[in-house]
Amino acid sequence: MFRTIKDIDFAGKKVLIRVDFNVPLDADLKITDDTRIRMAIPTIKHIIDNKGRAIIMSHLGRPKGERVDKYSLKSVVARLSELLDKPVAFAEDCIGEKANAAVSKMKDGDVTLLENLRFHKEEEKNNPEFSKALASLGDIFVSDAFGTAHRAHASTAGIADTLPAYAGFLMEKEVKYLSKVLTSPERPFVAIMGGAKVSDKITVIENLLEKVDTLLVGGGMAYTFHKALGHKIGNSLCENDKLDLALKVIEKAKALGKKFLFTQDVIAASEIKEGIATEAIASDNIPDDKMGLDIGPKTIKEFSDELKKAKTVLWNGPMGVFEVKPFDNGTRVIAELLATLDATTVVGGGDSVAAIEQMGAADKVTHVSTGGGACLEFLEGKTLPGIEIFSKPIK
Ligand code: AMP
Repeated sequence: MFRTIKDIDFAGKKVLIRVDFNVPLDADLKITDDTRIRMAIPTIKHIIDNKGRAIIMSHLGRPKGERVDKYSLKSVVARLSELLDKPVAFAEDCIGEKANAAVSKMKDGDVTLLENLRFHKEEEKNNPEFSKALASLGDIFVSDAFGTAHRAHASTAGIADTLPAYAGFLMEKEVKYLSKVLTSPERPFVAIMGGAKVSDKITVIENLLEKVDTLLVGGGMAYTFHKALGHKIGNSLCENDKLDLALKVIEKAKALGKKFLFTQDVIAASEIKEGIATEAIASDNIPDDKMGLDIGPKTIKEFSDELKKAKTVLWNGPMGVFEVKPFDNGTRVIAELLATLDATTVVGGGDSVAAIEQMGAADKVTHVSTGGGACLEFLEGKTLPGIEIFSKPIK
């Protein structure tokens, strides 16, 4: 059974909640994007509204096991307090005397934020003593930190050896939609992949090929497939050590009888620069001094036609260099189309999330995953250490 916070009565309980408050800060330690804090609010509210005591744990930045003032979670207290509309206490350490003292002062419905977990090197090492020290602060463990669920750290996995673990709302939503696309997608199921490198996503592609009806590949990674087929790709991005692997994937798609389409035309230019002259050309005959930087009009039409037929769509990775105009066009058209589809639309992983947000379509798709690496590992079919804990029998 996959346990969630809906399965438990929190009244009077000390609840350790692992969230991802790894927010971007400016030089004055002001939060420049509070999305990650806002995403965890429903879970925290649910716990305190049900009279639990919320003890919040997170990491921030990469302090590498030492106390580094600029990575103190103190910078998050005021914003968290505003969003919860109640005071938030701060403990200057996440274990030991300071943490114990802060927790012992708490009443039902109170909130305490613990200092950065990664000020202790034992956190990322999943040290059992450290896990136990964290666990000793609470009665129940709740996790909403999907973004770190692929890491077996003390606060994401080890702690569940001692405390019963429950998924928060955000974690539950991530697992629900990503599992749905992998295990019971409504068909046709179309996956659309892009981004820079085949090597980052080859295992995802291999796993998805077994599940999808159609796989569309755009972005920089398409050129490794073209080169593998002997096409002229000019200066386009290519991983020469992955050509054999690319051919194998093409063969696998054929053997499985899956539709596997990649770019047939591209927007090419001599460099990545705003306003540079571009041309739409066939993607198997790109001149030596040019590179493919976005999908071309024929590919946009072909991909769009496939997407319009879909009942489930999974999108990972931009179609081109979406950070630089005019190479954002293919990504924008796909994002806008996804927003209009009558289908379950799931967008996963780092840059595709940035792209769909940039295109203003994030709230028009079914689910936007908050995890980069975690989302990719989930889609590879791996069991994630920070997720399997919700199904482990409670000791
Ligand atoms: P990823 O993190 O693998 O999803 O890759 C995202 C990056 O891929 C973005 O920074 C894009 O600019 C880049 N990208 C997408 N298409 C291309 C392309 N045709 N050539 C070079 N870079 C690309």
